[in-house]
Order: sequence, then C-alpha cells, then structure tokens
Amino acid sequence: MKKILIFTLLLIACKSNTETSISSDFEIGIIADCQYCNCDSQNNRFYRQSTNKFKSAVEKLNTKKLDYTIHLGDFIDRDFESFDTVLPIWNSLKSEKFHVLGNHDFSVSDYLKSLVPKKMGLKNRYYSFIKNNWRFIVLDGNDLSYHGAITNTKKKETDSLFNLLKNEDEPNLQTWNGGLSSDQLLWVKEELNQAKNKNEYVGFYCHFPAGRNGDSHNLWNYKQFLQLIDGYANVKFYFNGHNHNGDYLEKNNVHHLTFKGMLDTENTSAFATAKFTKDSIFIKGYGREPSRGLKIN
Ligand SMILES: [Zn+2]
Repeated sequence: MKKILIFTLLLIACKSNTETSISSDFEIGIIADCQYCNCDSQNNRFYRQSTNKFKSAVEKLNTKKLDYTIHLGDFIDRDFESFDTVLPIWNSLKSEKFHVLGNHDFSVSDYLKSLVPKKMGLKNRYYSFIKNNWRFIVLDGNDLSYHGAITNTKKKETDSLFNLLKNEDEPNLQTWNGGLSSDQLLWVKEELNQAKNKNEYVGFYCHFPAGRNGDSHNLWNYKQFLQLIDGYANVKFYFNGHNHNGDYLEKNNVHHLTFKGMLDTENTSAFATAKFTKDSIFIKGYGREPSRGLKIN
C-alpha cells in the first residue's frame, strides 16, 4: 500500500513537472523597418509617414496584454537625431521592449556609431532572453559590416569575410548587408547548447533574412549560420525584417518569416502580433502583413 502511495505521489510530481515545463500561452508584438527620418519620400519609401504609422501601431498594441514587443531593425533610416522622434513613441508602449539592430540604425556620423546601441536601450549588440520555455536569441547581423563594425578587429574580420565570400558569387554580397562574427557564432552555439540542456524552444530574431537561397538581402554568412542551427531540433523560428516585401518559407522545421516593412507605401502600415501556444505560433497581421499559423513540431 505504501509503495502504491509513493508511486502515485511520484506520478503526480512528474505530471506537475511536465506541466510547468510546457509554456502557457503568451502574446507579443512585432514591428519591422519603421525606418523613420525627416526626409522626402523616395520610391515607395515614405519616411515622414512612419511616425503616424508607428503611433497607430503602438496604440493598437497597447490595447493588448503583450509579454513584449520587438522591433526587427532599421528603426531609423539615417541621422542620429531621428531616434529622438521615434523613441518617445516606442517608450509609450506598455509592454516590455526589445530592439534588433539594423543596417540603417548605423547610418549616422562615424563618431556617433558606437552610441547607437545605448541610444536604443541595448546593453549588448546581441543578447538573449527567456520567456516560459522559449529562449529568444537576438542576433546582430551588423557585427561584421561596412556600416556597423566599429573596432579594428571587427573591421578586419569584415574585410576577410567579404573577400572570402567573393568566390561564392552570391547576390547577398552587398555592402548594405552584414554578417555574424566568429565570436557571435560561438556565443550562439553556447546559447543553443544551454537551450538544449534545459529543453527550451529557440526562436531567432535578426534584421537580415537567412532562409531562402539566393535572396540578395541575406546575412552574408547565412550558410554558416544555417549549418550551425541544423544540429539543433529545438530551433523553431527565425524572424527578420530588411526585405520590405516580406517572405516566408519553412526549412528543416524552422519557420523563416520576413516581416513586411512598416515604412513602405503612403497610407498602409504593417505590423503584427504573435500568439505562442503549446504547439503553434499564430501571427495576426495588421495592414499589409498577412496572418498565418505556424505549427511547432
Ligand atoms: Zn535593413
């Protein structure tokens, strides 16, 4: 009888353990490429209109109970003072907030570049955070780049990666893209190992896409990155901006989703909320952003 009681108690303990490791539902806000500057419109880019679109998005997001909101990079188009126009709107968001660094965020005078992350409230250029049983990893795709590499070491590594990739003749070898340094890739591997040991799902945020072969917007060393994450079945998504047209593909059970740029078009916006449940992520799109359900296998 005593044995049965102990067994039952063990079962209950195991069950409650399993239950606590499964995430309860939560919802987040996602915005890509607000890209504000006090500049005249060009092509389909309406820089000044971004403030109103951004304000409306924040108003909408503030009607929801969100765990956090993330902006996927290119918060401004150029000029350091542009931050002072959009940051107060960003700060009126009620939820917790995270920024991903985009190439345009570094389109400021050279002497101000090193101040960009702090201005955007970032302690580190790449970082991770945990919600329920999810580890969200925020990459810095400008780590090696001709706009965002600041130290001499990073500048040298930028040159060597760029020259190495020249042999591959890929369309993403553009000076407005960027790549991950060897330090950052090592850090990602460490994060992935920690997540694996703790049974956490992993979601990546980066400004640059990495999923579709031949996309001219891709992270320079996207192949190296994909090779790294292929060894980890717990990686579930990779969300990014940068290609304002948006894109979606599933690759090796990872949902690669490019969110449309808020900046484009005169009168329409684009942003989203994402609801995380036990086995799915439901994207609710606003404006030009489509809604979709992403299954977590
Ligand atoms: Zn960009």
